[in-house]
Amino acid sequence: MEYFPIFLNIRERPCIVIGGGDIAARKVSLLLRAGGAVTVVAPELGAELADRLSKGEITHREKTFAPDDIEDCHLVIAATDDRAVNEAVSQAAQAQRIPVNVVDNPDLCSFVVPSIIDRSPLVAAVSTGGASPVLARIVRSRIETLIPAAYGQLVQLASSFRGKVKAHFSRPEDRRLFWEDVLSGSVAEMVFAGRDQAAREALEQELARTAEGASERGEVYLIGGGPGDPDLLTFRALRLLQKADVVVHDRLVSQGVIDLARRDAERIYVGKERDFHSVPQEGINQMLVRLAKEGKRVARLKGGDPFIFGRGGEEIETLAAEGIPFQVVPGITAAAGCASYAGIPLTHRDYSQACMFVTGHLKDGTMNLNWEALVQPNQTVAFYMGLTGLEVMCRELIAHGMSPQMPAALVQQGTTQNQRVYIGDLASLPGIVKESGVKAPTMIIVGEVVRLHEKLNWFEPGGDDRGASAHVRPEKATGGSS
Ligand code: SAH
Repeated sequence: MEYFPIFLNIRERPCIVIGGGDIAARKVSLLLRAGGAVTVVAPELGAELADRLSKGEITHREKTFAPDDIEDCHLVIAATDDRAVNEAVSQAAQAQRIPVNVVDNPDLCSFVVPSIIDRSPLVAAVSTGGASPVLARIVRSRIETLIPAAYGQLVQLASSFRGKVKAHFSRPEDRRLFWEDVLSGSVAEMVFAGRDQAAREALEQELARTAEGASERGEVYLIGGGPGDPDLLTFRALRLLQKADVVVHDRLVSQGVIDLARRDAERIYVGKERDFHSVPQEGINQMLVRLAKEGKRVARLKGGDPFIFGRGGEEIETLAAEGIPFQVVPGITAAAGCASYAGIPLTHRDYSQACMFVTGHLKDGTMNLNWEALVQPNQTVAFYMGLTGLEVMCRELIAHGMSPQMPAALVQQGTTQNQRVYIGDLASLPGIVKESGVKAPTMIIVGEVVRLHEKLNWFEPGGDDRGASAHVRPEKATGGSS
């Protein structure tokens, strides 16, 4: 270990920063966050430090550096672009055994400033000993994604219960187990979901219950797994997936997303082919209840967003009725994912002021939709589950007054390496489907915005030709990208 890591208490202690520019200002800001009493030594101050001075947050010695400037201080940071000054600061500080950092000059430092993940009171620091600050920042951002923003609140909650918990358990081992459960269980999840009061109450209950030796309560996370690309998952979805004991998923969830669950978690496939439900909805609802009652942490993983044509509402209604704790994690819905990855903005100032998400699911060979509303100008209509009924859909839109030349796109397996985009119009779309053998899952996007695909298409899936974009241009495609 090149450096010895410590956390230094500088609260109300004199700290000196040499230099008045932007870099000095950044260091000053850090020192102030930790409560340091900061004096800046510099002939002149930049705007940010001048502002801090006028607010009384720092003091200023308007002069060039001299060794006696740092007498009796606890910490020195030199942030000047003058090598001679930086060296003088380093020498003076080290002679007086005062910790000194010279920005971007590891050879002149007695300490380095790490990259910081601040979830106060929880703070994590990352250092490469000055060898590669950029790498330290990369590692920091990785850690950032592992530590939810609300961790600070969680530490505060833990700290306010510390005495009580200590009094409750006489054996340190019991205490440790209790905290492990609380800090990685439903109490923590409540804090992360912003439900501080509920977390407080749950912690109280947990404490009372643990004395009675009751087993842990199960819970359900209804998680939106997004349209396919695992990179589009939210941090919360990832965290809960790695915590769940059981993952209940259906066909639309990509393997890449399922793979992110804990390795030892049980995986249950509940299918849901179109027109063929491997496990009927009622069966899924009951399964979630049963698993949760067994004390399991259940991730109910659904494609896209659970509340958009996902029956997520029905599933949690059953949970709510049974008093089982649950939370809902939104996901990127297929319309948004496919539109982004096909370079088709769903709204655009020049073309579309609204976007409708519509189910194109056929029931008894028809589609019971408000066609008058769908054919209005200046809007985009995104059809889910519309492939089988595509012919009916195009026919009805035209019959209700939409131009047969209205641009339309089919996005098959959007956001994945198998994505294919077909561009046509209402008149040509059914033919395109027949010829090309487009398969579900496919999103159908209808509206003038589809013209933008040609200009804005950016995603190049796969190495093979399966991902290529197939352009069958609408005959009268003018304006926009053409
Ligand atoms: N809850 C999901 C939608 C479920 S309905 C969501 O929010 O996305 C299923 C329909 O979604 C499919 O028939 C298809 O139209 C669409 N869909 C889902 N994933 C898709 C994908 N990767 N590419 C294209 N369409 C997709």
